[in-house]
Amino acid sequence: MSTTEKTNLLSLDRQAMQEFFAGMGEKPFRATQVIQWVHHYGVDDFDAMTNLSKELRARLREAAEIRVPEIIEDQTAADGTRKWLLRLDDGNAIETVFIPEEERGTLCVSSQVGCTLNCSFCSTGHQGFNRSLGVAEIISQLLVANCALGRDPKGERIITNVVFMGMGEPLLNYDNVLPAMRLMQDDYAYGLSRRRVTLSTAGVIPMLDRLREDCPVSLAVSLHAPNDALRDQLVPLNKKYPIAELLEACRRYCADAPRTRVTFEYVMLDGVNDSLAHAHELVKLLQTVPSKVNLIPFNPFPDTRYLRTPREAIDQFRDVLVAAGITTITRKTRGDDIDAACGQLAGRVQDRTRRRERLVKRAVQT
Ligand code: SAH
Repeated sequence: MSTTEKTNLLSLDRQAMQEFFAGMGEKPFRATQVIQWVHHYGVDDFDAMTNLSKELRARLREAAEIRVPEIIEDQTAADGTRKWLLRLDDGNAIETVFIPEEERGTLCVSSQVGCTLNCSFCSTGHQGFNRSLGVAEIISQLLVANCALGRDPKGERIITNVVFMGMGEPLLNYDNVLPAMRLMQDDYAYGLSRRRVTLSTAGVIPMLDRLREDCPVSLAVSLHAPNDALRDQLVPLNKKYPIAELLEACRRYCADAPRTRVTFEYVMLDGVNDSLAHAHELVKLLQTVPSKVNLIPFNPFPDTRYLRTPREAIDQFRDVLVAAGITTITRKTRGDDIDAACGQLAGRVQDRTRRRERLVKRAVQT
């Protein structure tokens, strides 16, 4: 059997893995065993799976594989932030970033190669879009990073949190992001609690409602502006899903979970969205949603027209929010010497026009 016909076990969450084993005439507990080998122990060789019979191992070798993207670059910034460039089977490459902090270690994962949303201040958008990542490509980022980082002296994992804040819009790749998030939370895989997995979205409202029902992880929303006129310019998706409806969806998201708050991300762009008047407008807006605010100093990239708001102005903006009782933190700029900061992830988007051309062709043909 050729490689392409084998099932990559990394693409299967628990339910899919159980179905896979059912198809082989095996019991569901095989799924638990294999999930543990693959994700918990990072084993990619069926022969090392000693609690499976020799015969089952041989059948697995025939039908399945554990295929992880290859690391093509591994850089560490002065502040300890580490970035991996991973090569995908089709020649595209994606970036994954690890951010060490005192109390936690956060992995920032990508969900697409490039992005369709074209937010005016984000470098990923400027790279264009090629395609969405598969389940295996998403979870592999955690697998690869965990293997590279090893464990701390107590034997605990170094990565304690995952955020979908890399390349792409996770809610536009829901069908693959969901099983990957389920694996992140699976006790035999990575065992991360719901609140340690954060999905960041520019606000794809219908998918927010599905997420709340399917897998209510921590939610971050890229707001960036306190009114529609300005947000339309910064986040074009706002024209489809304007602020009032987005906040309504955020309220629904929190409704069943009493202590849940939405984190609103707000990139600080000098002279664009960072005045004290904007801060007061934001306070008004967020009154009815249980919220926290993350102010993100803008990270520049080549050919951008924006500048970062000066530190003092960010502090004054924050003070307005804090005075109104909104928990607000200014995100530290991490890893910018290796282009690993928010909005700087570019990866390598191959052939970004191909998909669009194909779609246009298809539209013309039908
Ligand atoms: N598509 C998702 C997730 C990816 S972006 C979303 O929009 O939330 C992750 C975060 O980085 C978002 O809040 C995004 O707005 C922010 N960001 C993008 N470009 C940035 C830049 N140049 N400087 C600072 N933050 C940026």
